[in-house]
Amino acid sequence: MSPSPDTILVSEVGPRDGLQSIARTMPTPDKLRWIDALHAAGVREIEVGSFVPPALLPQMADARELVVHARSLPGLQVAALAPNLRGAQAAFEAGVHKLTIPVSVTEAHSLANVRKTHEQVFAELAAIAALKRDRYPHVELEAGLSVAFGCTLQGAVSDDETMRMVDRAAEAGADVIGLSDTSGYAEPRQVRRLFRKLQDAVGAKAGGAHFHNTRGQGLANVLAALDVGVTTFDASQGGIGGCPYAPGASGNIVTEDLVYLLEAMGFATGIDIEGLIAARGILQQALEGEPLYGMVPDAGLPKGFRYADAKAVHA
Ligand code: ZN
Repeated sequence: MSPSPDTILVSEVGPRDGLQSIARTMPTPDKLRWIDALHAAGVREIEVGSFVPPALLPQMADARELVVHARSLPGLQVAALAPNLRGAQAAFEAGVHKLTIPVSVTEAHSLANVRKTHEQVFAELAAIAALKRDRYPHVELEAGLSVAFGCTLQGAVSDDETMRMVDRAAEAGADVIGLSDTSGYAEPRQVRRLFRKLQDAVGAKAGGAHFHNTRGQGLANVLAALDVGVTTFDASQGGIGGCPYAPGASGNIVTEDLVYLLEAMGFATGIDIEGLIAARGILQQALEGEPLYGMVPDAGLPKGFRYADAKAVHA
């Protein structure tokens, strides 16, 4: 799906990024109901899981089952994440439409996160890209550049460091390169600057924005990215998945608030906010006691609210 400038693709990453940092495993039937409800609300891309060894991350053990189910939902782009060739192979076999390979911009984060040097990470990415070209050419392969705006281990990250990794990811064969603010370091001017540099460097391979709301700057960063023409945004329902080292900090930007912002500004998402709130209810029930974030679900839609595409039928 390549949105026109007035259409934005909101990619729901809650089932992967959100749940990944929640210790309690959400039962598979609840995940299936949640995914169905998100789809019914009009969400057109969902990252349903991560292909990692179940012993390492029991929460993601049902990734294959979720991909297979999600593929049965009409019009849904089914995305997943895989940290290595083995995971990528499993994801391709399961039938993903889009696969994201995380690439840490700093070597410190790479070693801590996937226990690999940059050299090893790019060799693996090249092998995944080769497998994709040979056997799964229809899959969109994304390199998701983590800690692109700042790193919990290294601290500040320069634009040059990030851009070097952009070039290497393109050389290794990624179809799309996205920028992730993994732990809430980004500020809007930096976002504008880096996405412009990304677009100048790789043109049509420039991917979307993945922001966390750790320090409350998430939607400000979205505005900055919109200014320079970014058309894909990751978000998680209820902003779940806050950093375990920062109590009270929310995780990804909140899907409900993001969709509200976009629609209010005139960017069509195709997503119905009431439908999202219904999906949120499933999450709330399944993860009772887990904090959910977002303002729009509590406040509700303002009187006379109009969606960007006024012709769209909303319940
Ligand atoms: Zn993330």
